[in-house]
Amino acid sequence: MGDKEKFKTAGYVLRTLNYSESDLIVTFYSPEFGKFKGIAKGAKRSKKRFANVFEPFSLTNVIFTRRGRDTLSFIEACEIIDHYDVIRQDMEKTLIASYFIDLADQFSPEGKKNESIFQLLEDFMRMLGRDNASDAVVRFFEMRLLKLSGFEPAIDRCIVCKTPVTNGNAYYFHPHEGGIKCGACAKIQRYEQPISAGTVRTLLMGKDMDIDKIKLVCMTNALAMESRSLLIGFITYVLGREVKSLKVMEQVRRYCSSGGL
Ligand SMILES: [Zn+2]
Repeated sequence: MGDKEKFKTAGYVLRTLNYSESDLIVTFYSPEFGKFKGIAKGAKRSKKRFANVFEPFSLTNVIFTRRGRDTLSFIEACEIIDHYDVIRQDMEKTLIASYFIDLADQFSPEGKKNESIFQLLEDFMRMLGRDNASDAVVRFFEMRLLKLSGFEPAIDRCIVCKTPVTNGNAYYFHPHEGGIKCGACAKIQRYEQPISAGTVRTLLMGKDMDIDKIKLVCMTNALAMESRSLLIGFITYVLGREVKSLKVMEQVRRYCSSGGL
C-alpha cells in the first residue's frame, strides 16, 4: 500500500450512487483527472459536511485523497462553485443540463483527461443559465462533444465520392460508417430519410461557431428534425444504447409545448 496523496480540483457532479446507509459514491468530471469516482463517507448523514453539494450538474471544488493506483478516491471536502440555480428554476433547462451531463458521462472513459470536454460543459452550462434553451443548443452540444471525444461524424462531404456538400442536394447518413453519402452513392432504402444540405451545413457551422452566437440560430421544424435524427441515430449507434435522459427531456418538452404546463 502506497502513501495517500491529496488532490484538489474543480469538478462537475455527474451522478451519485448510494453506497451504504450513510455513504455516497460520487462521479465527477474534472479538468485535471477526467472522470473519477470518490466515496463521500457519511454524506447522507452529515448535512453539514457536504451541504447539498452532490446534486447532478453542480460545479464543485473537491479535495480528495487517493492511494497509488486505486480508482476510488476518498472525498475529504467538497464545496459549491456554481449550483446553477437559474437553470434549476426552469424545468426545460434542468432537463437539458441533465442530458449534457449524462452524455459527457457516457462518452468519457474513467481516468482519461480531456480538458476541452470540461470546458465544453462549463461553456454550455453558462449559456443555458443566460440564454433561452433551443434545439440548436442541444444539437450543437452533441456535435461538439462527439468531436472532442473522437467520434466526429464525417458530414462535410460524401464519404464515398468525396464530393463536398452542395446546396440543393439530399444526403443520407450512415451511422455504422460514421458519415453521409450523396444521393448517387447511397443505396437508398425505402425507410431512409434524406437530410438536406441546409441541415448538414447548419451542423457544420454549429460545431465551431462562437458560443455567444448560438442564441441567434433558429432551426425550422424540418431542420430540427433532420439534425436530431442524424445525431441521435449516431449517438445511439456509438453508445450501443438509447440515452434515457434524452427521452425524458423530449417527453417533457413535448408536454410543455402542447400547453400541458
Ligand atoms: Zn457520393
